[in-house]
Amino acid sequence: MGWAIALHGGAGDIPRSMPSNRLEPRKAALHYCLQIGVEALKAGRSPLDVVELVVCALEDNPNFNAGKGSVLTGKGTVEMEACIMDGNTKSCGAVSGVSTVKNAISLARLVMEKTPHIYLGFEGAEEFAREQGIEVVDSSHFITLENIERLKQAKEANRVQIDFTQPIHQELKDGPKGDQIGTVGCVAVDGEGNLAAATSTGGLVNKMVGRIGDTPIIGAGTYANKLCAVSATGKGEAIIRGTVGREVAALMEYKGLSLNEATSYVVKECTPKFTTGVIAVSASGEVAMSYNTVGMFRACATEDGYTEVGIWAGDE
Ligand code: ASP
Repeated sequence: MGWAIALHGGAGDIPRSMPSNRLEPRKAALHYCLQIGVEALKAGRSPLDVVELVVCALEDNPNFNAGKGSVLTGKGTVEMEACIMDGNTKSCGAVSGVSTVKNAISLARLVMEKTPHIYLGFEGAEEFAREQGIEVVDSSHFITLENIERLKQAKEANRVQIDFTQPIHQELKDGPKGDQIGTVGCVAVDGEGNLAAATSTGGLVNKMVGRIGDTPIIGAGTYANKLCAVSATGKGEAIIRGTVGREVAALMEYKGLSLNEATSYVVKECTPKFTTGVIAVSASGEVAMSYNTVGMFRACATEDGYTEVGIWAGDE
């Protein structure tokens, strides 16, 4: 038993040939955000605080598809979503369709703590943000040149595009043209086995206005209970169909699988290939990071000194 933390910056068809000017800042951000989380856990912050803190740092980094780096809808606008969940109490909060809130994950936490509800969207979420006095910015804050270019490419190809995709897999060429991948998430457990999960995203490039993905859906992109905390990334529609987060917990609860067995099973059997990445921690301090995509931006650390930062298989 000990603390453990894992985070992701999205899974997908990340080309190994990705130029170093795109790769290195992302790698550096993984190291930096992991360090923030580890220090907070060591300082005795609650797992809920830790996952919020780490996801805020990832949201503020323009290299990931959340917060500042959010991808654009088909109308060139930003609609962010986020979700946070406390494993002990199963308290949770989620937001969708947020376009001016600097850190959507903190708004999700306010929904959890200050409302009788779980999930607010669009104007209601924006109005609540203003009532709470959380930091808001002009929507232009979230619109990066890289994402304007991505949207242009997606429109030219007439598809909803995956961030890192070169369409090398037949499944991706033929599959539902559905997907920007680059969401961020964090899961953490402390030495007492308290668990929390948080996920935040801009969604998919060229998504329909109003589209809601897996990230804010409890039991799909985000889930935590007394056994484990899970955050997923990938094709939201596939993750929702697979109830990915809840499935990991259910396999542990009802089948007695270990965290690693449960996440591997879900990634292999419950979602189609090239769609899903999952990070998870268990109450006993195990960490799992599984994906059926080409790669996943990921990092983890445990109290007993294990650390991993990687993108593809075998490069940890
Ligand atoms: N799962 C997210 C969505 O479908 C995208 C991602 O993980 O990058 O909205």
